[in-house]
Amino acid sequence: MENALEPGLYIVAGPIGNLGDLTPRAAEILCRADVIAVEDTRVSAKLLRHAGSDRPMVPYHDHSSDTLRAKLIERMAGESVALLSDAGTPLISDPGYKLVRDARAAGRHVTTLPGPSAAIAALTLSGLPTDRFLFMGFLPSKAKARGDILAEVAALRATLIFYESGPRLSDSLAAMAQGLGNRDAAICREISKTFEEAVTGTLADLSTRYANAPPRGEIVVIVGPPGEAPPASAEDADAALKEAMTRLPVSKAAGEVAKALGLDRRTLYARAMELKG
Ligand code: SAM
Repeated sequence: MENALEPGLYIVAGPIGNLGDLTPRAAEILCRADVIAVEDTRVSAKLLRHAGSDRPMVPYHDHSSDTLRAKLIERMAGESVALLSDAGTPLISDPGYKLVRDARAAGRHVTTLPGPSAAIAALTLSGLPTDRFLFMGFLPSKAKARGDILAEVAALRATLIFYESGPRLSDSLAAMAQGLGNRDAAICREISKTFEEAVTGTLADLSTRYANAPPRGEIVVIVGPPGEAPPASAEDADAALKEAMTRLPVSKAAGEVAKALGLDRRTLYARAMELKG
């Protein structure tokens, strides 16, 4: 008989639609863990059948009672507990954060079995910059809360990743166009499944496209970073210098404007002296 797994917590990423994406290592852990903490036993039963696992499941959510979580942490002292989501990587818009936090606090062994996540899969499909990105999860459905969150990130020079649903898609895209500017975006749908697609366009165009035809299936919206601001003109620089010199000595004014407009400080200082006459 195979050796028992080391006691502790095993974070197991599952497929995001295509069962073939379950990694062999994840399948092995699902077959060997003493117990598997899942969101929905009916959903996970299908994956466990596919993996050939007959291990027992227990339902777990981060809003499960503290007692249930404490019991799982207790079990991790002598048993292996796998954590599995309905889809993709646990903790990513899914339960698990509190379980990992408490397992670490209790000194349990914690390890992860990496695998698919819709956020990263969509980013790779989008054709938008990947050097810097921010995962935004699901936007709130109330317009005010949604607008507040978009305002918080509007100035970031980063690609943004949102999870969405078909019925909300058009409204969310319109809110993004308003709150972030009409940027390039990609709607990535049904990734790894039969009807996988990625539709690209500006936020406003995409909002119109989906207004009367909400798409089916699972969706990730990728929004590109704000466009490069056009370089400041000589007139912009003069106006900024004149304004700054009403408040600051010439060298400080030149420094402030250089920083704000991304221009050379010495050139601006010379120009400020000219303007001063
Ligand atoms: N933990 C998962 C992960 O790692 O991607 C995400 C779980 S979250 C509750 C579910 C959301 O992920 C869906 O509403 C959708 O926005 C996105 N999603 C999951 N599977 C997807 C797929 N195959 N194609 C596109 N989006 C998907």
